Amino acid sequence: MSWDFDYCSTSALNNLLKANGLGMTKKFGQNFLINKAALEKIVSLSTAACGLSVWEIGPGIGALTSHLLATGAKVTAFEIDRGFCKILKEQAFADEKNFTLVEGDALKTWKQVWKENGTPDIICANLPYNVGSVLIASFIENRCLPSIMVYTLQTEVVRRICALPGDADYSGFSVVTCADYENSLSITLKPGNFWPAPNVDSAVVTMKKREKSLLDPSTEKAFFPTVRAVFSQRRKTVRNNLKALGKTPEQIERALEKAGISPDERAENLSVEKLAILTSALSE
Ligand code: SAM
Repeated sequence: MSWDFDYCSTSALNNLLKANGLGMTKKFGQNFLINKAALEKIVSLSTAACGLSVWEIGPGIGALTSHLLATGAKVTAFEIDRGFCKILKEQAFADEKNFTLVEGDALKTWKQVWKENGTPDIICANLPYNVGSVLIASFIENRCLPSIMVYTLQTEVVRRICALPGDADYSGFSVVTCADYENSLSITLKPGNFWPAPNVDSAVVTMKKREKSLLDPSTEKAFFPTVRAVFSQRRKTVRNNLKALGKTPEQIERALEKAGISPDERAENLSVEKLAILTSALSE
């Protein structure tokens, strides 16, 4: 049973934190979502439902968690703030059998949980901006690939996740996030939807796993280091950036030719498919 708490009332939030001797910490990107309609919409985008497993990163004191639990889903929540963990365990979800809390830095704890329990059906989170992109890349590069991921992030980061080759926002992160997922910007959220209000606009991105990955299993391990190298210096050509992989100039020329990529091409014009062919050609 979840508790009956008004997560959208700033005075209720203030009083609860005060009563527990807590405050909001900037370094952990603590901005609670206080718009009930947005919380409901995020949960509906996540497709959370009875019996499905959901990971939530950064539950805070449980605003999104309580909506996820209301669907009957089994929620594993990763929270770094000890004070929030205490509220989650002792007050908010003390008797909730579908709630599991993993205390500590999600960047360090998620792999063990994954090893023990496998990939969740869903990841849904209002992510701390400072760790958001690192965490998403870490899930994907380690091949923890749930069928759906729904994230609230800085709009700028969501634009990068949804960008296509040639777009101003296209980056190595766009390649990493779209190799296995089809991504779309689902909601935009002005700072006033959060407490305290952040300095930037936010957006919700829905990432749906592709029926078939754009990566071949035989090259997927080498793909991510190749992408990192190709995008390492924006001003440099692909040929120059590839030197970081320790290949000879001849190997690089040959691989580029095989992939049909001009040596003077810039990374921001290369699709996932082209980069996958390049990865495979480099390993020959
Ligand atoms: N889910 C709540 C909501 O939607 O209102 C809170 C979201 S708030 C933007 C981010 C939350 O992530 C905070 O509770 C913060 O303490 C937590 N957090 C920050 N860094 C973290 C990390 N490395 N691992 C786990 N939780 C983290």
